[in-house]
Amino acid sequence: MQNSRPASDQNEGPLNPGDEGPPDAPGVGEDLCGACHGTGLVEGERCTVCAGTGKVTQGIGGG
Ligand SMILES: [Zn+2]
Repeated sequence: MQNSRPASDQNEGPLNPGDEGPPDAPGVGEDLCGACHGTGLVEGERCTVCAGTGKVTQGIGGG
């Protein structure tokens, strides 16, 4: 596996790659990460979508 990004703390930014918006934004809700199913791990490695939090923010607005 190639990974040029160094392993670091989870708190390196306000948003994770899988986040669609800040959790406190209107029309956005927190949901389980679809990549790791809320475990924060993918194949034993920290999930890169949610940065290991197991949760992502997704737009829940409709219409
Ligand atoms: Zn994840």
